[in-house]
Amino acid sequence: MLKKEFAPFENKIWLSSPTMHGEEIEYVTEAYKTNWMSTVGKNINEVERIICEKVGCKYAVGLACGTDSLHLAMKLAKIKPGDTVFCSDMTFAATVNPVVYEGGVPVFIDTEYDTWNMDPVALEKAFELYPDTKVVVMAHLYGTPAKLDELKAICDRHNAIIIEDAAESLGATYKGVQTGSFGYCSAISFNGNKIITGSSGGMLLTDSYEDACKVCKWSTQSRENAPWYQHEEIGYNYRMSNVIAGVVRGQLPHLEEHIAGKKAIYERYKEGFKNLPVSMNPIDFENSEPNYWLSCMIIDSDAMCKQVRSDDKPLYAAEKGKSCPTEILDTLVKLNAEGRPIWKPMHAQPFYRMNGFVTREGNGRAATDAYISGGSVGKDGNPLDVGMDIFERGLCLPSDNKMTIEEQDKIIEVICACFE
Ligand SMILES: *Cc1c(COP(=O)(O)O)cnc(C)c1O
Repeated sequence: MLKKEFAPFENKIWLSSPTMHGEEIEYVTEAYKTNWMSTVGKNINEVERIICEKVGCKYAVGLACGTDSLHLAMKLAKIKPGDTVFCSDMTFAATVNPVVYEGGVPVFIDTEYDTWNMDPVALEKAFELYPDTKVVVMAHLYGTPAKLDELKAICDRHNAIIIEDAAESLGATYKGVQTGSFGYCSAISFNGNKIITGSSGGMLLTDSYEDACKVCKWSTQSRENAPWYQHEEIGYNYRMSNVIAGVVRGQLPHLEEHIAGKKAIYERYKEGFKNLPVSMNPIDFENSEPNYWLSCMIIDSDAMCKQVRSDDKPLYAAEKGKSCPTEILDTLVKLNAEGRPIWKPMHAQPFYRMNGFVTREGNGRAATDAYISGGSVGKDGNPLDVGMDIFERGLCLPSDNKMTIEEQDKIIEVICACFE
């Protein structure tokens, strides 16, 4: 139900679609004309070199996607069947699935309210519950760096390594240092909706020459140095294409420009919503500079109308002066604009329902069930299951760099109308 009528946009406003500049097609054409239509070539070499320079890592290996990069990161981390691996909980499933590809068992660590990333307090609790854990996989959600110093200190104390999922955060910095350079190794993504894109593609980043060689070898079917196809270990067909690399190469000079555009979008939303009972996704300005990949908002608890979500359908009851993500997302659809719910926490996914989940007060499995059936509050008065709370009250807003100011103003106006 629309509280007010608005004419829909003629051209769809996307959540985050590719923004091309022209150089991309030149590098792709160069690959074509020189016949380097393969997984070797100058575009790959150049893109790997430029990313190393940008992020500040020693080696970058171009792969077919970010998920592949995370998979090979799990192999570098030597995850074996049955190993517990601590993972960000409120994130895209691709952060976590690669753990399972290697037989690892994800245990999900709840989210904090300051950056919407892995909660260091919950991580500390997790090491009490699962002291043998040696690997932590953490994401920088929506391009906002996590509390890296705190998380790293805890991991160091417990002799665990961090694998950084920087798929959403290319170009973001923490204390002046680029994300993607903090982990034992890291993954980035050039998926079509990321801050820069190759249409697809990803990279594994590392400071170890040996590890970079391993990833290169694994990603090209693990051929041994022999005159025939000789294999001593399992291989994968994960290498980046030189054509895709051409697109990425053309995009790279525009990374900072994309970030500036996204930042302006974030700030316009922030200003536009200043009289609403909502906040934007939080940023720890003291320590970090995000890449503003997606602008998100979260509705104050007391301004939420009734909303329930089953496994595949939402339902809500419109109410004067209040709204909810479902009402706003439905309204955006009618306007021919694309929003998106916050990543539904992994511990609440049917596939991962048997996996451990740790909140800031300890083992959270039972607490989650209680939360879903009516709410469970921690000693500090906040919901115990932070991820589910943000999922219920938050949403991603149209954050496309090609959206005009007028278009964004209209989106702001429409969202304001949801609260009338
Ligand atoms: C996009 C994304 C990935 C996966 O990247 P692909 O290139 O699409 O495989 C992994 N983790 C997060 C957090 C992402 O947003």
